Amino acid sequence: MVRTRFAPSPTGYLHIGGARTALFSWAYARRHGGSFVLRIEDTDRERSTAASTQAILEGMAWLGLNYDEGPFYQMQRLARYREVADHLLKTGWAYPCYASREELEALRENQRARGEKPRYDGRWRDSKALPPAGIAPVIRFKTPVEGSVTFHDLIKGPITVANSELDDLVLLRADGIPTYNFGVVVDDLDMQITHIIRGDDHVNNTPRQIHLIQALGASLPQFAHLPMILGQDGERLSKRHGAVNVLQYQEDGFLPEALLNYLARLGWSHGDAEIFSQKDLVSWFDLAHVNRSPARFNPEKLLWLNQHYLKESSDTRLATQLRIDLTLSDAQWAMGPLPEQVVALLKGRLSHVTELAEAARYFYTDPAPTPDILAHPPEGAIRDALQACLSAFQTAAWTPESLGPLIKQTAQAHGLKMGPLGMPLRAILCGTSHTPSLDVTLHLIGRDAVTRRLQHFLS
Ligand code: GLU
Repeated sequence: MVRTRFAPSPTGYLHIGGARTALFSWAYARRHGGSFVLRIEDTDRERSTAASTQAILEGMAWLGLNYDEGPFYQMQRLARYREVADHLLKTGWAYPCYASREELEALRENQRARGEKPRYDGRWRDSKALPPAGIAPVIRFKTPVEGSVTFHDLIKGPITVANSELDDLVLLRADGIPTYNFGVVVDDLDMQITHIIRGDDHVNNTPRQIHLIQALGASLPQFAHLPMILGQDGERLSKRHGAVNVLQYQEDGFLPEALLNYLARLGWSHGDAEIFSQKDLVSWFDLAHVNRSPARFNPEKLLWLNQHYLKESSDTRLATQLRIDLTLSDAQWAMGPLPEQVVALLKGRLSHVTELAEAARYFYTDPAPTPDILAHPPEGAIRDALQACLSAFQTAAWTPESLGPLIKQTAQAHGLKMGPLGMPLRAILCGTSHTPSLDVTLHLIGRDAVTRRLQHFLS
């Protein structure tokens, strides 16, 4: 059975890169009817915060990335890491190291001065020296000296690293907190993870983790390292490129399905498909079609997807949002047309959910006419036609089917085309020149508000 995991460190919000890693791990598990585990790697006590954990959980919930097990917290598993470290000490795969911080710093200084790569020299590896009194040791792994490690990455293909490149890494610090590489191995084994899908910033850690897994006598999981995400300029995606916090997208009026669809295509493809639901993703996702080269984040494409999903969104869902937004903005939605009807009319014109309340405002409050029409009030035939509209509106059948022809006939009767009458009507009644077609718009604004606004302008 396939088991994947997402293992964020709670040192910040859920960012685009993390969300994509989570999505791919989630989709792989779902595709294979497996389990998706969430593990919070909170061993960096200085940088981990409860607020970050909360933000990560919220971000995942918003995107609909549900997990089957967890969240597990590494800081609640310290006894287990100690137990495994003791086991490695007993089997000869690990040893206590009493080197002090100053001693190690001096070692690195010397190595740098000689032009060598700084690395631990194994001074306590086979030492028979008596441990210094009063010093709590770290536990180090006895990395094999000879040979090399090869693994077959499901995305990058075979990767080989010589063991001489790796030093004896610390497993457990003196305070009993595991290092990343040790915690991750103990947890991935205990949680029976079969596919480790993560960012390729961890590819260099994998050979070390493989040694550890082998020392523990376990079989290897599969590894898939996802290429990183770049901004449009080819630099690693960062705040400079705009929002990278997933929840910021929610605040900015993106729909979760748009971001999810976008993230899925960020480095993965399924033929020419650009638009797909979560369900499609689950039936199509595979690691074979993850690109080997870095993906570029394209905000315009995300916006395009958001427009698409807004158009597809149910009226009820957007109307709920509109009611909330109008209440917050003091507009009286209960006095105006049904929010569902307004949403149905406007949703095809939106790029962000957040534009909805603004776009819908003139249905619920009398707007100020546009500055343009206030500066140049209509005269002559146009003013006469507006006056004629006002009288006709008072008794007309109030349906789009009769309002459309009524406006057209009024224009014709005054020797005008639709534009010269339609534009001022929009400017006066809606306070903007961008509205859906007049017949439906006026119908929804309602006879009372339409005649009141027109009368006020003409008086
Ligand atoms: N806690 C690690 C990170 O956030 C996870 C690495 C892994 O998935 O193994 O980068």
